[in-house]
This record gives sequence, structure tokens and C-alpha cells, in this order.
Amino acid sequence: MTKRDIIIIPDPVLREVCKPIVTVDADIRALADDMLETMYAAPGIGLAASQIGVLQRMFVLDVAKEDAPKDPMVFINPEITWESEELSVYQEGCLSIPEYYEDVERPAMVRVKYQDIDGQQQEIEAGGLLATCIQHELDHLNGKLFIDYLSKLKRDRVMKKFSKLAKQTGKL
Ligand code: ZN
Repeated sequence: MTKRDIIIIPDPVLREVCKPIVTVDADIRALADDMLETMYAAPGIGLAASQIGVLQRMFVLDVAKEDAPKDPMVFINPEITWESEELSVYQEGCLSIPEYYEDVERPAMVRVKYQDIDGQQQEIEAGGLLATCIQHELDHLNGKLFIDYLSKLKRDRVMKKFSKLAKQTGKL
């Protein structure tokens, strides 16, 4: 397992749409391991492949409580097949937008179809933090970030701050 570098906004890679994974093979399993290691080290509760510069439709997450055993989940080619009309609000953050948190309203429950790490088709219904996390990570695969749900004023402000930082560190 290798810890990878996490890409930070305004890197345009984060706006790319990821491609479907054709075969769940050893390379994909190794990628999932790297993504989990990177996510736990950050630390974070979710990470999409595009956040480490790999444009494939896959994300990992672990929403287990801090004092509970680890519960890593890998979602390959995920698709939301149903979402509730009922909405819920969570304060979201993102490893690609460090130390920035804002409330985001999303469907409270979703049903998601995906392949697991063995390539098996799965479908689960999720609520609570898991539902929010799945939607946040799936957005990444479509080049969408949680700041897109905020007002233009807030989004512009955060983009400006990180553009300035990137310039200072010579990353852009
Ligand atoms: Zn994120």
C-alpha cells in the first residue's frame, strides 16, 4: 500500500469526469488499498479516485464512529438508482478543500448500485452520514465539488483563497 498525494483545488483535474472501470482486477484492488491508506492517513471519511489524480469511477469511504472498528467500503462504478424526497443537512468538508466546512442539503436517503472489490454487483440503501458521504464522493466522479452547492459568493471566496495558496506554493 502506498499513500498518495491528495489534489487540492483549484487543480482542474478535480473537474474531470471519471471513466467507468471495465474490469475489477489486481490493479484496481491495489488502487483501492492506496486510496484507503491515503484516506485514513489524511484523516478523512471518504476519498474519490480523481482526488489522487486517477480518473476512474471509484471511491472509498469509512463512516464508522471513531471508537468503532474500521469499516472500509469500496464503491466501483457507483450509480444512484433512487433518492428520497426528504432532505437532510450535514456540515461537509473535503480533503481537496482542506479545513473548509459548510452545511449542504442533500436527499436524506439514497439507493446505490455498484461493484464491490470482488467485482460483484451490489445495491444498498443508505441514510444518515453514509447517504451524504456517498453523494459527495459520487459527485467527485462527475467533476462536482460540495462548494458547488453554496452561494456563488461563498464559492468564489474559497476558490480565491486556494488559488492564492496554490500560487504561493508554486503548485499552479
Ligand atoms: Zn470531497
